[in-house]
Amino acid sequence: MPSLSRFIPALALLFLFALLPAPAPAAGMVSLTFDDGLASVWREAYPVLKSRGLTATVAVISRKLTSDDPDYMTPTEVHALAGAGWEVASHGLTHRHPTDLPPRLADEVLTGLAPAEARSPVLQVHYPWPALSLLLENGRELKAEATYQDMERTPGSYFFDATIQELSVHPAGDVSRPFELRAGSYEREMRQSKEELSALGFTVSAYVRPYNHWTPESMDVSRTYYQTVATGGERPNRAGDFTPLDVARYNVLSGTQVADVVALIRRKAKKNNAWVVLCLHGVEERLGWEPWPAARLAELADWLVKSGLPVVTLSQGAARLAAESGAR
Ligand SMILES: [Zn+2]
Repeated sequence: MPSLSRFIPALALLFLFALLPAPAPAAGMVSLTFDDGLASVWREAYPVLKSRGLTATVAVISRKLTSDDPDYMTPTEVHALAGAGWEVASHGLTHRHPTDLPPRLADEVLTGLAPAEARSPVLQVHYPWPALSLLLENGRELKAEATYQDMERTPGSYFFDATIQELSVHPAGDVSRPFELRAGSYEREMRQSKEELSALGFTVSAYVRPYNHWTPESMDVSRTYYQTVATGGERPNRAGDFTPLDVARYNVLSGTQVADVVALIRRKAKKNNAWVVLCLHGVEERLGWEPWPAARLAELADWLVKSGLPVVTLSQGAARLAAESGAR
């Protein structure tokens, strides 16, 4: 019969385990996000990640997606990414800066328009914002003309002289009838980009702020349309103080080396269980802001696979961190 003394070390060990803190929540995570929807993401980034079984999030500018501009991906290419497990996020309708436009839909209606001169069909008004994303006449979008003369001979168009902040409009319809002119707001950037992406067949629940800039008002408006919103901030996202409407990202610039990114992920995601979101733009080709070489993306992807860290999309990461924060 075994003596009691043989059980004592085992019991002591069990007792010690009971005193240890609960294991930390799942190890950190990493996300790759590509802003602007550049064609090089399809041509260069996608094959690199696909061959390693990784997915990412692409933040598209809805009007660029349908613009036939060869620098940007087409809806067909973005559908192929979505089919391969990538997340498609909105990056706005026209990529305007939030402080350049009226903040809300309620701020869009223009008043005080006056004829440019006697018997001219052109109406003019001082427009106080630095940019005009689009102009709607009774809900119908007018055509932006490059010169005053082009606008003057084209009903249903407008010309905005940003230098003197003068907006000239050649209405399409009869201005003596009920007539409303609306200048696109930042809220429209968020709402309509989602609507246009939905009309193209994409399911969109995340928004990526152009220029990584936000105002408290734009952040407040974003909750009406999106569950997850990413910005800049150069910090990790951690359970506890996490809000899905303010997902912080680190910029990966043309000069950023793989070793820098790996060190960052080791320090923040691996050791501290945080979620590191990387903000990239184009890959390899000289398109867009601060493109990253494909060879570096491949090296980073190899390291990520070896690290065993989960590589998640924006919405997956936000849902997981929100659940972890709620569980605390
Ligand atoms: Zn952008």
